Amino acid sequence: MKLLLGTLLLAVTSLSAYDYALKPVRITSDVHCFFGKPEIMDKTNNGNIVNSCYIDAGEGYVVVDTGPSYAYAESAHKAMKKIKSLPVKLVINTHIHDDHWLGNNYFTEQGIKVLGSDDFKVNADMSIPTRMQTYISAEAYASTVPTLPTEMISSDTTLSVGNQTLELKIAKHKAHTAKDMVVYLPKSKVLIAADLVFNDRLPSVRGGDINGWLSALDDLDTLKAEHVVGGHGNRTDKDAAQMTREYFTQMRSEIRAAIADGLSIDETIKKVSMDKYKKYKLYEGTHRHNVESSYRVLEWE
Ligand SMILES: [Zn+2]
Repeated sequence: MKLLLGTLLLAVTSLSAYDYALKPVRITSDVHCFFGKPEIMDKTNNGNIVNSCYIDAGEGYVVVDTGPSYAYAESAHKAMKKIKSLPVKLVINTHIHDDHWLGNNYFTEQGIKVLGSDDFKVNADMSIPTRMQTYISAEAYASTVPTLPTEMISSDTTLSVGNQTLELKIAKHKAHTAKDMVVYLPKSKVLIAADLVFNDRLPSVRGGDINGWLSALDDLDTLKAEHVVGGHGNRTDKDAAQMTREYFTQMRSEIRAAIADGLSIDETIKKVSMDKYKKYKLYEGTHRHNVESSYRVLEWE
Protein backbone atom coordinates (compact mmCIF):
# COMPACT_ATOMS: atom_id res chain seq x y z
CA MET A 1 0.00 0.00 0.00
CA LYS A 2 2.81 2.37 0.95
CA LEU A 3 4.55 1.63 -2.31
CA LEU A 4 1.36 2.24 -4.28
CA LEU A 5 0.80 5.56 -2.51
CA GLY A 6 4.37 6.58 -3.27
CA THR A 7 3.95 5.74 -6.92
CA LEU A 8 0.69 7.69 -7.07
CA LEU A 9 2.28 10.72 -5.42
CA LEU A 10 5.15 10.61 -7.89
CA ALA A 11 2.71 10.44 -10.80
CA VAL A 12 0.75 13.43 -9.47
CA THR A 13 3.94 15.46 -8.90
CA SER A 14 5.26 14.84 -12.40
CA LEU A 15 1.91 15.82 -13.90
CA SER A 16 1.67 19.17 -12.13
CA ALA A 17 3.26 21.92 -14.20
CA TYR A 18 5.92 24.29 -12.97
CA ASP A 19 4.23 27.41 -11.60
CA TYR A 20 5.84 30.76 -12.50
CA ALA A 21 3.41 32.47 -10.06
CA LEU A 22 3.13 35.43 -12.43
CA LYS A 23 1.48 38.63 -11.23
CA PRO A 24 -0.12 40.95 -13.80
CA VAL A 25 0.48 44.71 -13.52
CA ARG A 26 -2.28 47.08 -14.63
CA ILE A 27 -1.14 49.55 -17.30
CA THR A 28 -4.60 50.91 -18.19
CA SER A 29 -8.11 49.58 -17.57
CA ASP A 30 -7.76 47.42 -20.71
CA VAL A 31 -4.08 46.39 -20.63
CA HIS A 32 -2.22 44.26 -18.10
CA CYS A 33 1.38 43.17 -18.48
CA PHE A 34 3.78 40.75 -16.82
CA PHE A 35 7.27 42.03 -16.15
CA GLY A 36 10.28 39.73 -16.21
CA LYS A 37 13.50 40.03 -14.23
CA PRO A 38 16.44 42.01 -15.68
CA GLU A 39 18.57 38.87 -15.90
CA ILE A 40 19.84 36.27 -18.32
CA MET A 41 17.74 33.10 -18.41
CA ASP A 42 18.74 30.36 -15.97
CA LYS A 43 17.35 27.51 -13.91
CA THR A 44 16.24 29.91 -11.16
CA ASN A 45 14.24 32.48 -13.16
CA ASN A 46 13.31 29.81 -15.73
CA GLY A 47 13.17 32.37 -18.50
CA ASN A 48 10.91 34.82 -16.68
CA ILE A 49 13.12 37.61 -18.01
CA VAL A 50 10.69 39.03 -20.53
CA ASN A 51 7.55 41.17 -20.59
CA SER A 52 4.24 40.05 -22.08
CA CYS A 53 0.80 41.67 -22.17
CA TYR A 54 -2.91 40.92 -22.21
CA ILE A 55 -5.31 43.31 -23.94
CA ASP A 56 -8.95 43.19 -22.87
CA ALA A 57 -11.00 43.43 -26.07
CA GLY A 58 -14.37 43.02 -24.33
CA GLU A 59 -15.26 39.62 -25.75
CA GLY A 60 -11.83 38.16 -25.09
CA TYR A 61 -8.12 38.78 -24.65
CA VAL A 62 -5.41 39.50 -27.17
CA VAL A 63 -2.08 38.19 -25.90
CA VAL A 64 1.13 39.93 -26.96
CA ASP A 65 4.06 37.51 -26.60
CA THR A 66 3.77 34.16 -24.92
CA GLY A 67 6.97 33.98 -22.90
CA PRO A 68 9.73 31.39 -22.57
CA SER A 69 7.68 28.21 -22.12
CA TYR A 70 4.32 26.48 -22.14
CA ALA A 71 4.16 26.71 -18.33
CA TYR A 72 4.76 30.49 -18.48
CA ALA A 73 1.88 30.95 -20.94
CA GLU A 74 -0.37 28.80 -18.79
CA SER A 75 0.59 30.67 -15.62
CA ALA A 76 -0.04 34.08 -17.25
CA HIS A 77 -3.44 33.01 -18.54
CA LYS A 78 -4.38 31.59 -15.14
CA ALA A 79 -3.48 34.91 -13.47
CA MET A 80 -5.49 36.92 -16.01
CA LYS A 81 -8.56 34.71 -15.60
CA LYS A 82 -8.63 35.86 -11.96
CA ILE A 83 -8.95 39.47 -13.16
CA LYS A 84 -11.56 38.68 -15.81
CA SER A 85 -12.43 35.23 -17.03
CA LEU A 86 -12.23 35.79 -20.79
CA PRO A 87 -11.19 33.45 -23.58
CA VAL A 88 -8.09 34.30 -25.61
CA LYS A 89 -9.12 35.43 -29.10
CA LEU A 90 -5.74 36.11 -30.68
CA VAL A 91 -2.03 35.82 -29.91
CA ILE A 92 0.64 38.09 -31.38
CA ASN A 93 4.39 37.35 -31.49
CA THR A 94 6.52 40.51 -31.72
CA HIS A 95 9.78 38.94 -32.95
CA ILE A 96 11.74 35.73 -33.27
CA HIS A 97 13.70 35.68 -29.97
CA ASP A 98 12.61 32.62 -28.06
CA ASP A 99 11.90 34.30 -24.72
CA HIS A 100 8.91 35.88 -26.49
CA TRP A 101 7.11 33.00 -28.22
CA LEU A 102 7.87 29.58 -26.74
CA GLY A 103 4.52 29.63 -24.95
CA ASN A 104 2.77 29.49 -28.34
CA ASN A 105 1.75 25.85 -28.18
CA TYR A 106 -0.27 26.46 -25.00
CA PHE A 107 -2.55 28.56 -27.27
CA THR A 108 -2.34 26.66 -30.57
CA GLU A 109 -3.42 23.43 -28.84
CA GLN A 110 -6.65 25.31 -28.00
CA GLY A 111 -7.05 26.28 -31.66
CA ILE A 112 -6.15 29.95 -31.09
CA LYS A 113 -4.59 31.88 -33.98
CA VAL A 114 -1.03 33.16 -33.51
CA LEU A 115 0.09 36.07 -35.66
CA GLY A 116 3.71 37.00 -36.30
CA SER A 117 5.83 38.61 -38.99
CA ASP A 118 7.14 36.55 -41.90
CA ASP A 119 10.62 36.85 -40.36
CA PHE A 120 9.72 33.65 -38.49
CA LYS A 121 9.78 31.88 -41.86
CA VAL A 122 13.20 33.32 -42.68
CA ASN A 123 15.16 33.50 -39.46
CA ALA A 124 13.62 31.22 -36.82
CA ASP A 125 15.88 28.17 -36.89
CA MET A 126 13.72 25.26 -35.77
CA SER A 127 16.46 22.67 -36.30
CA ILE A 128 18.50 23.59 -33.23
CA PRO A 129 17.55 23.37 -29.53
CA THR A 130 16.10 26.65 -28.25
CA ARG A 131 18.06 28.72 -25.73
CA MET A 132 15.34 28.07 -23.18
CA GLN A 133 15.57 24.33 -23.72
CA THR A 134 19.28 24.58 -22.96
CA TYR A 135 19.28 27.00 -20.02
CA ILE A 136 16.04 26.70 -18.03
CA SER A 137 14.96 23.73 -15.94
CA ALA A 138 13.40 20.70 -17.60
CA GLU A 139 10.44 21.09 -15.25
CA ALA A 140 9.75 24.66 -16.45
CA TYR A 141 10.32 23.70 -20.10
CA ALA A 142 8.03 20.64 -19.91
CA SER A 143 5.22 20.56 -22.53
CA THR A 144 6.92 23.29 -24.57
CA VAL A 145 6.94 22.49 -28.28
CA PRO A 146 8.49 25.28 -30.38
CA THR A 147 5.57 26.39 -32.55
CA LEU A 148 5.69 29.08 -35.22
CA PRO A 149 2.91 31.65 -35.68
CA THR A 150 -0.01 30.10 -37.54
CA GLU A 151 -0.34 33.23 -39.68
CA MET A 152 2.44 35.53 -40.84
CA ILE A 153 2.26 39.10 -42.11
CA SER A 154 4.82 41.04 -44.09
CA SER A 155 3.66 44.63 -43.57
CA ASP A 156 1.73 46.93 -41.25
CA THR A 157 -1.77 45.65 -40.50
CA THR A 158 -4.74 47.07 -38.62
CA LEU A 159 -7.05 44.58 -36.95
CA SER A 160 -10.36 44.82 -35.13
CA VAL A 161 -10.81 42.43 -32.24
CA GLY A 162 -13.90 42.92 -30.10
CA ASN A 163 -13.92 46.56 -28.98
CA GLN A 164 -10.23 47.14 -29.78
CA THR A 165 -8.40 48.38 -32.84
CA LEU A 166 -4.88 46.94 -32.99
CA GLU A 167 -2.28 48.63 -35.14
CA LEU A 168 0.51 46.16 -35.88
CA LYS A 169 3.56 48.01 -37.09
CA ILE A 170 6.74 46.48 -38.42
CA ALA A 171 9.98 48.45 -38.15
CA LYS A 172 11.00 49.66 -41.62
CA HIS A 173 14.59 48.48 -41.27
CA LYS A 174 16.52 45.86 -39.36
CA ALA A 175 16.58 47.15 -35.76
CA HIS A 176 16.68 44.74 -32.77
CA THR A 177 16.04 41.91 -35.25
CA ALA A 178 15.39 41.77 -39.01
CA LYS A 179 11.68 42.44 -38.38
CA ASP A 180 10.41 43.88 -35.12
CA MET A 181 6.67 44.19 -34.68
CA VAL A 182 4.97 46.48 -32.18
CA VAL A 183 1.31 46.75 -31.19
CA TYR A 184 -0.35 50.13 -30.78
CA LEU A 185 -3.79 50.60 -29.23
CA PRO A 186 -5.21 53.97 -30.30
CA LYS A 187 -8.12 53.73 -27.83
CA SER A 188 -5.95 53.69 -24.71
CA LYS A 189 -2.77 55.08 -26.32
CA VAL A 190 -0.74 52.08 -25.20
CA LEU A 191 2.27 51.07 -27.26
CA ILE A 192 3.58 47.56 -26.71
CA ALA A 193 7.01 48.20 -28.17
CA ALA A 194 8.55 44.80 -27.40
CA ASP A 195 12.34 44.67 -27.75
CA LEU A 196 12.67 48.05 -29.44
CA VAL A 197 12.52 49.30 -25.85
CA PHE A 198 14.61 48.08 -22.93
CA ASN A 199 14.84 50.12 -19.77
CA ASP A 200 16.42 48.27 -16.89
CA ARG A 201 19.04 46.19 -18.62
CA LEU A 202 21.22 46.97 -21.60
CA PRO A 203 19.54 46.37 -24.95
CA SER A 204 21.25 43.93 -27.31
CA VAL A 205 21.81 44.93 -30.93
CA ARG A 206 23.67 41.75 -31.86
CA GLY A 207 21.96 40.50 -35.01
CA GLY A 208 20.32 43.91 -35.44
CA ASP A 209 21.33 47.36 -36.67
CA ILE A 210 22.01 50.47 -34.57
CA ASN A 211 20.86 52.88 -37.32
CA GLY A 212 17.65 50.97 -38.00
CA TRP A 213 16.93 50.78 -34.27
CA LEU A 214 17.30 54.54 -33.71
CA SER A 215 15.13 55.33 -36.73
CA ALA A 216 12.51 52.82 -35.53
CA LEU A 217 12.39 54.68 -32.19
CA ASP A 218 11.82 57.95 -34.09
CA ASP A 219 8.94 56.33 -35.96
CA LEU A 220 7.40 55.10 -32.70
CA ASP A 221 7.56 58.66 -31.33
CA THR A 222 5.14 59.83 -34.01
CA LEU A 223 2.43 57.64 -32.43
CA LYS A 224 2.44 59.89 -29.34
CA ALA A 225 1.69 56.95 -27.05
CA GLU A 226 0.99 57.73 -23.41
CA HIS A 227 2.11 54.35 -22.12
CA VAL A 228 5.07 52.50 -23.61
CA VAL A 229 5.73 48.92 -22.56
CA GLY A 230 9.11 47.54 -23.62
CA GLY A 231 10.12 43.93 -23.94
CA HIS A 232 12.40 44.19 -20.91
CA GLY A 233 12.14 46.60 -17.98
CA ASN A 234 9.42 47.99 -15.72
CA ARG A 235 9.17 51.59 -16.90
CA THR A 236 5.90 52.22 -18.79
CA ASP A 237 5.43 55.99 -19.06
CA LYS A 238 5.53 57.79 -22.43
CA ASP A 239 9.31 58.26 -22.20
CA ALA A 240 10.09 54.62 -21.41
CA ALA A 241 12.33 54.40 -24.51
CA GLN A 242 14.66 57.08 -23.15
CA MET A 243 17.43 54.79 -21.91
CA THR A 244 17.54 52.73 -25.12
CA ARG A 245 17.61 55.87 -27.26
CA GLU A 246 20.29 57.66 -25.22
CA TYR A 247 22.46 54.56 -25.01
CA PHE A 248 22.50 53.93 -28.77
CA THR A 249 22.76 57.64 -29.66
CA GLN A 250 25.88 58.04 -27.50
CA MET A 251 27.30 54.75 -28.78
CA ARG A 252 26.81 55.73 -32.40
CA SER A 253 28.48 59.10 -32.03
CA GLU A 254 31.44 57.65 -30.08
CA ILE A 255 31.95 54.86 -32.63
CA ARG A 256 31.70 57.29 -35.54
CA ALA A 257 34.36 59.47 -33.89
CA ALA A 258 36.59 56.43 -33.30
CA ILE A 259 36.26 55.36 -36.95
CA ALA A 260 37.06 58.92 -38.08
CA ASP A 261 40.21 58.74 -35.91
CA GLY A 262 41.22 55.51 -37.65
CA LEU A 263 40.75 53.26 -34.60
CA SER A 264 40.49 49.51 -35.16
CA ILE A 265 37.54 47.50 -33.90
CA ASP A 266 39.48 46.30 -30.82
CA GLU A 267 40.67 49.82 -30.00
CA THR A 268 37.11 51.09 -30.39
CA ILE A 269 35.71 48.44 -28.05
CA LYS A 270 38.25 49.56 -25.40
CA LYS A 271 37.56 53.25 -25.96
CA VAL A 272 33.76 53.18 -26.15
CA SER A 273 33.21 51.75 -22.67
CA MET A 274 30.39 54.18 -21.80
CA ASP A 275 31.03 53.76 -18.08
CA LYS A 276 27.82 55.35 -16.89
CA TYR A 277 25.98 52.27 -18.21
CA LYS A 278 28.03 49.90 -16.05
CA LYS A 279 25.34 50.14 -13.39
CA TYR A 280 22.83 48.47 -15.69
CA LYS A 281 22.25 44.74 -15.63
CA LEU A 282 23.90 42.71 -18.37
CA TYR A 283 26.51 45.41 -19.11
CA GLU A 284 29.31 42.86 -18.87
CA GLY A 285 27.82 40.37 -21.29
CA THR A 286 26.22 42.80 -23.73
CA HIS A 287 28.00 46.12 -24.11
CA ARG A 288 31.16 45.06 -25.92
CA HIS A 289 29.13 42.95 -28.36
CA ASN A 290 26.92 45.97 -29.07
CA VAL A 291 29.97 48.11 -29.83
CA GLU A 292 31.47 45.39 -31.99
CA SER A 293 28.37 44.79 -34.12
CA SER A 294 27.65 48.52 -34.41
CA TYR A 295 31.23 49.21 -35.53
CA ARG A 296 30.73 46.70 -38.36
CA VAL A 297 27.62 48.62 -39.48
CA LEU A 298 29.05 52.12 -39.07
CA GLU A 299 32.41 51.48 -40.73
CA TRP A 300 30.58 51.28 -44.10
CA GLU A 301 28.98 54.71 -43.84
ZN1 LIG B 1 14.54 40.17 -28.43
